[in-house]
Amino acid sequence: MKRIAVLGSTGSIGLSTLRVIREQRRSFRVVALSTNTRAELLRRQAAEYRPRFVCVRDARAAGRIRRALPRGVRLLVGEAGLSELLERAQIDVVLMAISGAAALRPFMQCIERGQDVALANKEALVMTGSLLMKRARRAGVSVLPVDSEQSAIWQCLCGEKRRSLRKVYLTASGGPLLRCGKRELRNISRDRVLKHPRWSMGRKITVDSATMMNKGLEFIESMALFDLSAEQIQGVIHPEAIIHSMVEFCDGSIKAQLSQTDMRIPIQYALSYPGRLSSESRGVDLARIAALHFEKPDIRRFPCLGLAYEAARAQGTMPAVLNAANEIGVEAFLQGALAFSGIARVVEKVCRKHNNKRSPSVEDILEADSWARRCAGEYI
Ligand code: NAD
Ligand code: MG
Repeated sequence: MKRIAVLGSTGSIGLSTLRVIREQRRSFRVVALSTNTRAELLRRQAAEYRPRFVCVRDARAAGRIRRALPRGVRLLVGEAGLSELLERAQIDVVLMAISGAAALRPFMQCIERGQDVALANKEALVMTGSLLMKRARRAGVSVLPVDSEQSAIWQCLCGEKRRSLRKVYLTASGGPLLRCGKRELRNISRDRVLKHPRWSMGRKITVDSATMMNKGLEFIESMALFDLSAEQIQGVIHPEAIIHSMVEFCDGSIKAQLSQTDMRIPIQYALSYPGRLSSESRGVDLARIAALHFEKPDIRRFPCLGLAYEAARAQGTMPAVLNAANEIGVEAFLQGALAFSGIARVVEKVCRKHNNKRSPSVEDILEADSWARRCAGEYI
């Protein structure tokens, strides 16, 4: 029985994780849950899964459920509460499903505590690159990929020697706007952007899929997770989203991981690793799909992808700046304060203005992150 803490349990990945745990009650038990503001949903989750600790970051939201929690469930509040949760909950694996840069501190804390992490969040690794992965390796902490592409690469690498790896193909469905022309893309509506054809996800990552920044972030995430250079990774559009990424080896063989577009599959693999558990997820009916397609990404129509490639090659504090400017741009777009094409413009402006610092410390990275947020806000 593995004891799991689901941080960000009220989001899209958090909910899928709880479904996996419900389906695999004999293998997994929830010991802690957390949310930012969705206290009522967290309360219902606590009633079903009976964790020892729950944490609500927002103090006012926490106040609303203080008296309504089931017996034996302890309420913790704020960032300090999350630290206490990590310290006291006796966790085997933390499923990190907090979105955005907010996951960085709890992720770092896990590493410091020697705590294994199944990592869905990509922003924390994008910001810190290999720095945190090196710390994790030194501390003997397993960072188990949850993002579907990273899970695919990881599964392809299992049983292989590192030196046999030649290249990684990072696949992208292309998002909801794959076939839109450049002019159409300029002012596309929020509703169109939020309708992803293949995956149902949180709002931020759905916008990132539409701009293809999501693939850019995953490109940088893969470099950090698997210790790859930018030249070793190639982005490829694969609209059916059946192959979740591929690895080419030194003898010319390519391995791919295929499955339905259901995040429960990579989530369950990260939690059950090194084993696999039976589940009701169906395989893929290849005869019905009939054909799988691949094409080159178009960075003229999706400039965010090109900007991410540049930041990936620059390394240092640049990926953190790219990520922060993008978070601010996406938020402004969701609030109707910025046009769709404005997201890439904001990211470009901020990245061009940034004085990149090579080999940064975590403090340098956090400083660059705050600077980029301010700068993006001013530009908007
Ligand atoms: P979401 O917005 O649906 O959920 C985010 C969760 O984090 C919520 O529970 C929220 O309460 C919590 N949270 C947000 N801000 C917080 C803060 N400041 N402090 C504490 N908690 C906070 O997001 P999601 O789609 O579930 O994505 C989560 C992460 O997983 C992201 O980093 C995303 O890139 C990554 N990811 C998501 C998917 C997907 O299918 N949704 C796939 C791959 C990777
Ligand atoms: Mg992904």
